[in-house]
Amino acid sequence: MNLKISALEYVQQVQNGTISAEDFVSTTLDRIKSVDDKLHAFLSVNDDAVNQAKEIDKKIKSGDKVGACFGMPISIKDNMCIKNSTTTCASKMLENFVAPYDATVISKLKQQDAIFIGKANMDEFAMGLTTEFSAYGPSKNPWNTEYIPGGSSGGSAVSVSAFECIASLGSDTGGSVRNPASFCGNVGYKPTYGLISRFGLISYANSIEQIGPLTRTVKDTAFLLNLITGLDPNDNTTVDNHNEDYLGEIEAGIEGKKIGIIKEMIAEGTDPAVMSATKDAISKLESLGATCEEVSLDMVKYSVAAYYTITATEAGSNLARYDNLRYGYDFPVEGYEFNSYIEKARKKFGPEVTRRMILGGFVPSAGQAGKYFLKALKVKSKLTKEIDEAFKKFDLLIAPTVPILPFKIGEKIDDPVSLFLVDINTVTANLTGKPAISVPYAVSNGLPIGIQLLANSMNDKMLLQAAYALEQTVKLPEVPL
Ligand code: GLN
Repeated sequence: MNLKISALEYVQQVQNGTISAEDFVSTTLDRIKSVDDKLHAFLSVNDDAVNQAKEIDKKIKSGDKVGACFGMPISIKDNMCIKNSTTTCASKMLENFVAPYDATVISKLKQQDAIFIGKANMDEFAMGLTTEFSAYGPSKNPWNTEYIPGGSSGGSAVSVSAFECIASLGSDTGGSVRNPASFCGNVGYKPTYGLISRFGLISYANSIEQIGPLTRTVKDTAFLLNLITGLDPNDNTTVDNHNEDYLGEIEAGIEGKKIGIIKEMIAEGTDPAVMSATKDAISKLESLGATCEEVSLDMVKYSVAAYYTITATEAGSNLARYDNLRYGYDFPVEGYEFNSYIEKARKKFGPEVTRRMILGGFVPSAGQAGKYFLKALKVKSKLTKEIDEAFKKFDLLIAPTVPILPFKIGEKIDDPVSLFLVDINTVTANLTGKPAISVPYAVSNGLPIGIQLLANSMNDKMLLQAAYALEQTVKLPEVPL
């Protein structure tokens, strides 16, 4: 059984009877058993998956209507609720939390007969970019297990790269889908803000985050977007995309498109291998009929500071509910007064979440808000104005997804500020609500490099067409696992 197939190939092969959902799913589970001790992509695995696959095979045999996923095994970042399954956010705080309902993306995929093969490891509450802040231990990069896979959706990226599933859903607040996709050689997508419902996604910074797919191919991302986008009465930030078909015209090409090269994102400090991959991608796009020209987004230099100020503020408010009274782990109140009780409850948070909560209490507080939070909001609106201006001239923007290559596990864990800087190229899409994609483009020293394309809001379809065109120009080596 070949597990190295795309989502679209899987659908085709199940439909024409070359493979059965049961065989594919049970081989996938065997694969997880044999490699996941080394990689730690999963926090939990669905032990009912084979039964679910059998049910789907039965439906196929008897000619009943089958959903578009035909039993495809998909991993889900462990911050999305699947009814009756644990959803830990990779935190000790939610160690025993069993979700009482399905996230909208989950119910949509259930209707399409997807199988949720397991919950993927992540940085605790999605705060981080290496997966080292998981309370259950880091995931490892399948290209070289001494290296970080990126994060916070690291488990998602690893599971796709290591053929432990066909595709995954992650969440991207400041790069958490695109960064691990880039580091593990997947396609990673952050849609226009509001395109995918966040109902049932445990919030980190709701004003900027989105759920997004991680897949082997750009077409697979378009396929999944067709199934999970659209208005949701349970999330009033969702936008109506009028059932846009992202896959249908994906081969349209990029002839005549104008592409802006974001100057501030290929600045000093960019790794030479990342720099040369970016230049190469630009010349490939030109040879496909696009014109590329440098553009400056001056506010990018303040974007990381603004991002961490805004996200800490929202996280401080969102995570206040974990006080052991509304949510959290359980211990009796006897022997505590109010503050010491809450203090003990919060001890279940790991170091990064604790840092963000302290910061999130401080930056919007009376006397500080003007200096920090309100200033950060100004940067956000100025950056949005700048990028909107750029999109009057350009159809698309390009930059490396991450300026550096993956680094060794443990290398930067004691230096959170230098870690923050790794987000420099990804946070702009979140702060401005624009869609962005990371396309696997090169391998240097055995580690992947992704190229990022951005488009204007609701131009997701054109963005995928461009990403598809770029993807056709490369063939990466196989994961050496
Ligand atoms: N590294 C960023 C952070 O720690 C991004 C995380 C994300 O996108 N969830 O906040």
